[in-house]
Amino acid sequence: MIDLRSDTVTQPCEAMRKAMYSATTGDDVYGEDPTVNLLEERAAELSKKDAGLFVTSGTQGNLVAVLSHCQRGHEYIAGTEAHTYLYEGGGAAVLGGIQPCTIPFNEKGELPLDILESQLKPDDSHYAISRLLCLENTQAGKALSLEYLSEFSGFALKNNLKRHLDGARIFNAAIKLGVTIEKICANFDTISICLSKGLGAPVGSVLVGDHQDIASARRWRKMLGGGLRQAGIVAAAGIYALDHNILDLEEDHRRAQILANSLQSLGIQILEKPQTNMVMLHPEFDPSGLQKHLETKMIKISGHRLVTHRDISDQDLQTVISACKEYVNV
Ligand SMILES: *Cc1c(COP(=O)(O)O)cnc(C)c1O
Repeated sequence: MIDLRSDTVTQPCEAMRKAMYSATTGDDVYGEDPTVNLLEERAAELSKKDAGLFVTSGTQGNLVAVLSHCQRGHEYIAGTEAHTYLYEGGGAAVLGGIQPCTIPFNEKGELPLDILESQLKPDDSHYAISRLLCLENTQAGKALSLEYLSEFSGFALKNNLKRHLDGARIFNAAIKLGVTIEKICANFDTISICLSKGLGAPVGSVLVGDHQDIASARRWRKMLGGGLRQAGIVAAAGIYALDHNILDLEEDHRRAQILANSLQSLGIQILEKPQTNMVMLHPEFDPSGLQKHLETKMIKISGHRLVTHRDISDQDLQTVISACKEYVNV
């Protein structure tokens, strides 16, 4: 099976499994799991933040961050198609009484500052209190520029707003920009980083931020049932991923470009040249026929999105391209 639906489908490799097998563990709710502690320190170090918190998923990382920044009656502003708003079951509203306000992303994956400004609520009892801005990076495979991030950050600080980044794929963004994640993280109070996407770990994310925000997020994590005990078993996979798999993302990006170019030369229109590991088909292209044909060849795609990841080899890519060629020629 060649699975291009998402980079979440990667399997832990042999060496990662060995690291998990031999992990030293303790009770993390007591703060006594050395492997979890090491993962949290490593993530904090890479992002140049005070502290890290190992969470069960990206969704949990985003939720505990929003719950830490906002109280009941507060408002967070996010993209209309943002994971933090659209794909997390409405958690901030359901569990925190926190109202979402949404703005469409522009074609670069940004929230334009003039539109953000127009959505900030005045100090008036009719309104919820604007408290938090959330960005996503990468957003639909696009890396936000450091110039934009710096303007965004200045805007938030000027308006006394907290800044959270859904950095599920922050390493893809950093590689695309040719910088370390520290440069991106400098513009945010908290950042949620997925270990289980392109980095290849089976489970988990890390939230990083200052001591106060992370202490608060730790309380919320416990309340949400995310206080795991001998979690070092899974944290070990995360450490392995940070130690060995970051630079491999570049290969995923290279393969996405090859795939995009090949599709285009077959007359299958793509939305734009991929920046990272996601090839987006043109919205006017109906992918259902292609999807059905690929299924007969044991290849999975999800709608308009084809995602490369560490379990897609150059040979797999050629198999996919050949199958697409067959589809076009039928
Ligand atoms: C995958 C993803 C998350 C987190 O997802 P989980 O499945 O909960 O780990 C958050 N944001 C974005 C943009 C994602 O792609």
